[in-house]
Amino acid sequence: MDGGAGIRTPWDTPPAPGEAVEVAEGVLWLRLPLPMALDHVNVYALDDGDGWTLVDTGMSSRKSRAIWDSLLSGPLRGKPVRRVVVTHHHPDHMGLAGWFQSVHVAELLTTRTAWLFARMLTLDEQDRPPPETLEFWRRAGMDPEILAERADERPFNFADMVWPMPLGFTRLQQGDTLEMGGRRWDVHIGHGHAPEHATFWSRDDALVLAGDQILPSISSNLGVYATEPEADPVADWLESCTRLAGLARDDQLALGGHKLPFTGLPLRLAQLIENHRGALARLERHIATPKTAGACFAPLFKRSIGRAEYGLALVEAVAHLNHLHRAGRATRHLNRDGALEFTACRMAAGREGGGDGVPS
Ligand SMILES: [Zn+2]
Repeated sequence: MDGGAGIRTPWDTPPAPGEAVEVAEGVLWLRLPLPMALDHVNVYALDDGDGWTLVDTGMSSRKSRAIWDSLLSGPLRGKPVRRVVVTHHHPDHMGLAGWFQSVHVAELLTTRTAWLFARMLTLDEQDRPPPETLEFWRRAGMDPEILAERADERPFNFADMVWPMPLGFTRLQQGDTLEMGGRRWDVHIGHGHAPEHATFWSRDDALVLAGDQILPSISSNLGVYATEPEADPVADWLESCTRLAGLARDDQLALGGHKLPFTGLPLRLAQLIENHRGALARLERHIATPKTAGACFAPLFKRSIGRAEYGLALVEAVAHLNHLHRAGRATRHLNRDGALEFTACRMAAGREGGGDGVPS
């Protein structure tokens, strides 16, 4: 499972449902299932002496709640869950935060943007995609057959996968320190995969709770959505990786939201930056002639994209095209179908980084 030389995964076997693996004194690694290709999320329980602090919660489903019930009466028994820390707003992380708040009377700690996004999206239940989403898909050049199909289906809804979130949370922000699991942790905020994503860096030993900001062996999805069609999450991501690399050490054990705990953070952060730089360079060559986001999967993913991955691939393609456009490396125009086509400004062999071209 190595992501490359210098990246080590000390545990090859994840905890079974309802079980825990102690990855450091007072830090338990737990897993919950997800109903998708990426079929699991990691969560952590930190022993505070008189109670537990959980880091992330899993998606809200009957199955996840049943697993939590067996964790609470199994490896976590004897102490209440007093706090739930959530790294970012996505349903696999925030899903059961409201359940812990309302059913288990725990305090929720997260970033302000994560809380606002999660609460906004759970309240914004949609039976059919709204016109803004259809327009966003059209501009992205979504395959017309898929667009027609999706226009007539219930879309992905936060409310289906996230327990209702009661009012009230405690804000985490850049520069905060937090006690949990008998350690002091510095809060560092990342962006790109999700806005205002919290990571936690132990001052007292070599542990990092990384959420989805730094994952081994898979790359976090960087997506643009109808909520903010001009966003440039790739720039946000590159800035975050560069900044977090300044905190990274080879001895740190990174505990992420998916896959296995690993060491080798400096190398992994360098890889994450390089992977996107490489993808941008391939994409720039690909749009020597005008292309929509929907026609840009090949250079970005280097494999064929199935129906199940189509949505994630499309938002990631828009993200990379927006980045080239914002950096002045591509121009864009609306074609006759109402889709944005992007064209590289100039193609000099071996050119790297942003140019000073004139954006459209
Ligand atoms: Zn995740």
